[in-house]
Amino acid sequence: MTAPLLDVQDLRKEFAVRAGRFGFGRAMLAAVDGVSFTVSRGETLSLVGESGCGKSTVGRAILRLIAPTAGEIRLDGQRIDDLPEHRLRPLRRRIQVVFQDPFSSLNPRLTVGDILAEPLRNFGLVHGRAARAERLGQLADAVGVAREALGRRPHEFSGGQRQRIGIARALATEPELIVCDEAVSALDVSVKAQIINLLADLQDRLGLALLFISHDLAVVEHLTHRVAVMYLGRIVETGPRRALFAAPHHPYTRALLSSVPVPDPTATRRRIVLGGDVPSPLAPPPGCRFHTRCPFAVERCRVETPALRPVGEGHVSACHFDTEPAPG
Ligand code: SF4
Repeated sequence: MTAPLLDVQDLRKEFAVRAGRFGFGRAMLAAVDGVSFTVSRGETLSLVGESGCGKSTVGRAILRLIAPTAGEIRLDGQRIDDLPEHRLRPLRRRIQVVFQDPFSSLNPRLTVGDILAEPLRNFGLVHGRAARAERLGQLADAVGVAREALGRRPHEFSGGQRQRIGIARALATEPELIVCDEAVSALDVSVKAQIINLLADLQDRLGLALLFISHDLAVVEHLTHRVAVMYLGRIVETGPRRALFAAPHHPYTRALLSSVPVPDPTATRRRIVLGGDVPSPLAPPPGCRFHTRCPFAVERCRVETPALRPVGEGHVSACHFDTEPAPG
């Protein structure tokens, strides 16, 4: 078995926040609380969960846009969580990101050609005008943007086209891993499908690893190899796509999945509507963090934290019960 490209172990990220009645106090908010997973070369892992569950913080820690509080992150076996700022440059080339809003992440004053040329220049990847022009053309071809459009500015493109440009910019450094942070969330349904197909196609051709961060399980169904579901800073279930979509184990995953539309109009899926809001990460509930919203919670869930336990081949879930528990 080959070593994973990305190996995240027991990652923790705390933020100091204002607290107390008048906001004069300080408290530590654990946005990510002991998250572990791996991503292999050529693999897509989707990190899924509601807004505020910590999934984007995980992505930002891997990109070293923020420093983790604890835990280890390895890229190809090498620790990257403790690299000092001056040694991050090679990492920036190997791990790239595609954000949700391509408009705000693309400089409106630059042409698309200039935007794509920036990483080539920063990392000294091509030399000479002709070589650069050829590389820009290749990047445009790879994402389905016309070469003639390289002289235009971001505002002259549609949202889907701008996201293609964002992907081309990420590809410019020939990364091994791309973190896609809600990369298709702002797009229309049909454009969303096109961008997902493009990412899958690029992955096939280039052997890229993708960490796909999304609040929407429906989006990841056709792209991902494995899924990790996060709730309130922790992973509650991880499994291969087929197993997780066919037989989700954790009640939270089941609830998320129950809201995914079923393509077959004759098929039905029992909708599980969760009560209440996600509790504050400043004061997470004891025991199982999901117990305040879980329809199956019993006394044990309120006091005992469930560990991730195997429930199938490569499939783990953090619930005390082996099968669907009786409603509490
Ligand atoms: Fe629900 Fe209890 Fe399982 Fe947590 S451990 S998911 S509260 S049944």
